[in-house]
Amino acid sequence: MSKLDFLQELGIEEVNLGGFSTKWFGSGTNLKSIAPADESVIATVNQCDSGDYEQIMKDTATIFQKWRMEPAPKRGEVVRLLANEFRKHKVALGKLIAWEMGKIQAEGEGEVQEMIDIADYAVGLSRQLYGKTMHSERPNHRMYEQWHPLGTVGIITAFNFPGAVWAWNAMIAAVCGDVMVWKPSSKTPLTAIAIQKIVNQVLDPLGWNGVMSLLVGSSRDVGEMLIHDRRIPLISATGSCNMGRKIGGAVSKRLARSLLELGGNNGIIVMPDADPELVLRAVVFGAVGTAGQRCTSTRRLFLHKDIASDMIERLITSYSQVKIGDPLDSKTLMGPLVDETAVNDFSMALKTVKEEGGEIIHGGKSIDSPGFYVEPTIVRASIDMAIAREETFAPILYLFEFDTLEEAISMHNSVDQGLSSSIFTRDMQSVENFLSHAGSDCGIANVNIGTSGAEIGGAFGGEKDTGGGREAGSDSWKVYMRRQTNTLNWSDDLPLAQGIEFG
Ligand code: NAD
Repeated sequence: MSKLDFLQELGIEEVNLGGFSTKWFGSGTNLKSIAPADESVIATVNQCDSGDYEQIMKDTATIFQKWRMEPAPKRGEVVRLLANEFRKHKVALGKLIAWEMGKIQAEGEGEVQEMIDIADYAVGLSRQLYGKTMHSERPNHRMYEQWHPLGTVGIITAFNFPGAVWAWNAMIAAVCGDVMVWKPSSKTPLTAIAIQKIVNQVLDPLGWNGVMSLLVGSSRDVGEMLIHDRRIPLISATGSCNMGRKIGGAVSKRLARSLLELGGNNGIIVMPDADPELVLRAVVFGAVGTAGQRCTSTRRLFLHKDIASDMIERLITSYSQVKIGDPLDSKTLMGPLVDETAVNDFSMALKTVKEEGGEIIHGGKSIDSPGFYVEPTIVRASIDMAIAREETFAPILYLFEFDTLEEAISMHNSVDQGLSSSIFTRDMQSVENFLSHAGSDCGIANVNIGTSGAEIGGAFGGEKDTGGGREAGSDSWKVYMRRQTNTLNWSDDLPLAQGIEFG
């Protein structure tokens, strides 16, 4: 399949301007989609302006009146049809993600698989939006709680998962009876448009046009309109901690709900009895995969002193074999960073590493070529280095050594972020300590698997500056609905609660 073929499959046609474009509405200014692999312009996209925004908000509110009354299993049926379409276009969409975002194609297709998985999950969920029943203290009374749709959900997504993060929100919100507007990252507008085209193919013939809408536009324009809009009871935002602080503040000011999925600074603790081969595979996938641009990327590695030098030797050997290059070449293991700013952030972080006394023991350079390539990098660090406490969205791995598990957990928990964590050991006491109340303080804590790559069945999200939001599996759906407690009196009397006699 050539580049052109897969774009055509996704409904995107060639136009002038030396790039691709798409029959896509939008009355605002143009936005260029740039390929990180060679800095070429992939497409020029029309952004939305405030008039488009108002129109979409109006259409969304109108269709909500109908969608909320559609039985949830029927809404699930619509989501099932979406899953079928994602399956059909898995390769094409995976390639577009790789081309526009820079992750390798295998990971691009993996991302589409995640969209399929969450849709399948949501189909089952559509029959399981359970409420509890309670025993009333009053005779011949019934108490229960039920869950209603919220309304319009605003979904703001990061560049690094240009499809999956939307799907995590959209598939669940849809079966919950919500309608939604999506503001994707301005670095990946074409992927968003391709996905919306697939959505439209399914929804329009069924008369559900407007249940899922897309607003391509900058955070300054469209983003700000969304977060301040009182018609939107829930903003689900994925991105950096700084963005989360701003959005969380704006949304709470109008007393609405926010679901924040923010940055991580994820660590792996390696005990002396760990299987070194498993550790190696997990660390290289976690730190080098997606060029270190996953929220769950492994950024800190805590090595027990007894095995540190052996582990470091193995890591350097492995890192030396990482093939860096075109994400659409099947031999490539690590593609480029997303843009020039990301390369500058990588270089600045390493400059700070040196100033703070860290030692770069592998990599450390950006690669001079068209495209935003850098070397996967390993740094010997100390716990007081401020730069190692920050999330630099690049393949930099900080190494620390420890004597006791207690010391390792304390170092691990000392950062502001709290997304994903793991321990490698065969020892039951070490496992239970790591998972105890005094163990990892993250939303995700794994044993003998890395920090990166979550399954959709569990609730996904993190604590502290990661924002506290939960998406995907378990009972995460509850944030997309409003809870109502109902008390029904089927007696001929009107007894008051707490036995109060009134008059
Ligand atoms: P970013 O914070 O720059 O942008 C994320 C999104 O927020 C974009 O769509 C952006 O336009 C929008 N945005 C920014 N400011 C806004 C504002 N004031 N109003 C409305 N919208 C605004 O993040 P990024 O560089 O695209 O992504 C990388 C970051 O995302 C990393 O920190 C990563 O850890 C995080 N991330 C977290 C998760 C998670 O689930 N915890 C998942 C993926 C990415």
